[in-house]
Amino acid sequence: MTTPLLPPVTIDQFRDDILRHLTYSVGTDPEHASSYDWRLALSFALRDRVVEPWFASTRRTWTEDSKRVYYLSMEFLIGRVLEDAAINIGLRDIAAGALALLGQDFTTLAEGEPDAALGNGGLGRLAACYMESMATLGCPAYGYGIRYENGLFRQRFESGQQVEAPEDWLTQRQPWDFERPESAYTIGFKGHVENVDGRVRWIPGETVLASAHDMPVVGWRANWANTLRLWAARPTTLFDLERFNRGDYAAAAEPEILARTLSRVLYPDDTTYQGKELRLKQEYFLTSAAIQDILRRFLKTHDDLRQLPDKVAIQMNDTHPALAGPELIRLLVDHHGIAFAEASRIARECLGYTNHTLLPEALERWSTWLMGTVLPRHMQIIEAIDAEHAQDYPARPAHTAIVAGNEVKMGELAFITSHKVNGVSALHTDLVRRNLFADLDRLHPGRIINETNGVTPRRWLKLANPGLSGLITDTIGEGWEADLDRLSGLEAHVEDRAFRDRFMAIKRANKAATSDWLAKRTGVQADPDAIFDVQVKRIHEYKRQLLNILQTIAQWQRIRDTPNGDHVPRVRIFGGKSAPGYAVAKEIIHLINDVAATINADPAVKGLLKVVFPANYNVSMAEKLMPAADLSEQISTAGKEASGTGNMKLSLNGALTIGTLDGANVEIRERVGPENFFLFGLTADQVIQRRKDVDHARHAIEASQPLRDVLQMIAEGRFSPDQPDRYHGVVDRVWNHDYFLVASDFTAYDDAQSQVDGVWRRPDDWARMAALNTARMGFFSSDRAIRGYMNDIWSVESAI
Ligand SMILES: *Cc1c(COP(=O)(O)O)cnc(C)c1O
Repeated sequence: MTTPLLPPVTIDQFRDDILRHLTYSVGTDPEHASSYDWRLALSFALRDRVVEPWFASTRRTWTEDSKRVYYLSMEFLIGRVLEDAAINIGLRDIAAGALALLGQDFTTLAEGEPDAALGNGGLGRLAACYMESMATLGCPAYGYGIRYENGLFRQRFESGQQVEAPEDWLTQRQPWDFERPESAYTIGFKGHVENVDGRVRWIPGETVLASAHDMPVVGWRANWANTLRLWAARPTTLFDLERFNRGDYAAAAEPEILARTLSRVLYPDDTTYQGKELRLKQEYFLTSAAIQDILRRFLKTHDDLRQLPDKVAIQMNDTHPALAGPELIRLLVDHHGIAFAEASRIARECLGYTNHTLLPEALERWSTWLMGTVLPRHMQIIEAIDAEHAQDYPARPAHTAIVAGNEVKMGELAFITSHKVNGVSALHTDLVRRNLFADLDRLHPGRIINETNGVTPRRWLKLANPGLSGLITDTIGEGWEADLDRLSGLEAHVEDRAFRDRFMAIKRANKAATSDWLAKRTGVQADPDAIFDVQVKRIHEYKRQLLNILQTIAQWQRIRDTPNGDHVPRVRIFGGKSAPGYAVAKEIIHLINDVAATINADPAVKGLLKVVFPANYNVSMAEKLMPAADLSEQISTAGKEASGTGNMKLSLNGALTIGTLDGANVEIRERVGPENFFLFGLTADQVIQRRKDVDHARHAIEASQPLRDVLQMIAEGRFSPDQPDRYHGVVDRVWNHDYFLVASDFTAYDDAQSQVDGVWRRPDDWARMAALNTARMGFFSSDRAIRGYMNDIWSVESAI
């Protein structure tokens, strides 16, 4: 099925659609309509054309009884929806034309849409890219997540420090949201377990309702559309009228408040944070609602639950939904009377688990006490899964157990209940096999596989970079959007000077536009002829924003020492949020802002160096920065970044990477060619060796005069004259607790940065290398990644 499902529409017809929705859906007179009203009307007009392929896809899946994929994720970092949908259904330009007839500007309206920020960073953005690719590929799929009332917090800086405010995307009307109050499930917590005639019954002590909200996700050219189903928590008993009538209003509203708390906030960290019971309840809330929904859908047209794996593939995005195994087994055993061993087999054949991290602090563990209190029946089932595994593998080493030392290890639980476990880059998967799950890999050879991450080219090239997209289409024709390997067709043109000139002229124009945007946001004027050097991602010690800012200071010092030297102008652009409770990351943000203020105010620098840190990095900001970047900073301590996807977006948009051999950097370098990548630093194995020298940091600092000087300047308060000892902690950590090897990699990084300057001085070489990056990044499309999941894990066929 390749014929588009959409009937064609003219600009005039679409203008009438918008006007009709403005009047009848928004309820506003065109005379008095605000931008918000116009944006809603536009969204409804576009939505009408998404609903048709959406229904058609759902109907086909039912009539053909296709196997469905269920992607369970606590995070979906979606960003804006309007323009992405408009582009995928092919109405971006028609919509813009229709709006122009109405005196409205498409881009202005589109940029008024708040980001749906239901995620922290890479993991949640991956889930969003995968939803879009599943729709593009015609893979029948549902995403399941939580409809957080407040998504990821909004960040601003006060005196250079991060301040968090709640993000309130739901205070506006959500045109893409279809509420389904009829699709609601009861979710239990706590209580006790009873044995009645050999059958087990869990009597929960608390209940809430999970109520569905559906969002259509339409693929490229609207050949297919899937559903993202987000669960909102509602009270099971509306409110206590008797108490209310007695005037006890607060108590009467209690059930409502308790329920709302559940879907109130996104857990604000990729790694560690508190609020444990609430988090465990959120994870179970998502998982139970999803599994109940999956079983209901299956049982509508089937009655033999043993055939569930033929029709259902469930993917767990990290361990957050790892209760899917125990919950599925519970429902099969307690509600459908299936024997435990059979239920356990069914669950395993349905389930797959994606591991996203090796950081020990990010590997979820719950105390058996908490698990037993919040989910008493699940605790029993987890113990039964563990006992079954011990029985099936009598020689298993003790640490492969799920329950150990009064803790439930969610990684082991997810591994043992899944038929496939995947890492997210070649290097990461190798480390998962060798270290994290080495013994489980020996017991279950072949279960661990690799699926290197990808990003959707529709959002990250077509939408974000219309200039470059136009050049690509002019050069190799249409079709690359859904077949990104075709970008290799650009290679033949890289030796063509006119092509290179256009490529760089587009980059220059993107930089000029981003420069204006940065000036409005931060007041800092960035010269579009300077290198735009970009590090945007969550602020984390392992990602080493500290290494970047230390080298920035060293460069500043060089400019001051040799004011007549041949320095290459640079703009160092930072973006990213720290978890609210992560003090060390917040200190790094403060330092970057203090360094920025000092350098940007220094007349001796003469515009050769600027440091810009716009607040509140999110998907929309990424769409602005990626196309304007010359240099992509991917400088994590080797062995710590599972894959990265920011690295892919940047390279796809023609930025050269300066990076370590970490995560997908390894594969990016192989694909774009080592000569088109600035490699530096210790390898993952060398990192481990290096740490064996207990004085590694001191030795590295003593060997580097520039690094010594930089640390000295920070320690003396050069960047915090009002509080000279502000960064003593930072400096002390580099000297004495440098776990992420900032000092050991400093000199190699500094040298690699000089190489960057060297190539920039040869603009033609730079242009060649940048164009080759774009030409060779086709592999990193999320379409390729999803095809891998469909073949290797889900065994599902495309329906188109
Ligand atoms: C792509 C993306 C990320 C992931 O970036 P990494 O560099 O891979 O950590 C995080 N946040 C946003 C908003 C993104 O778009």
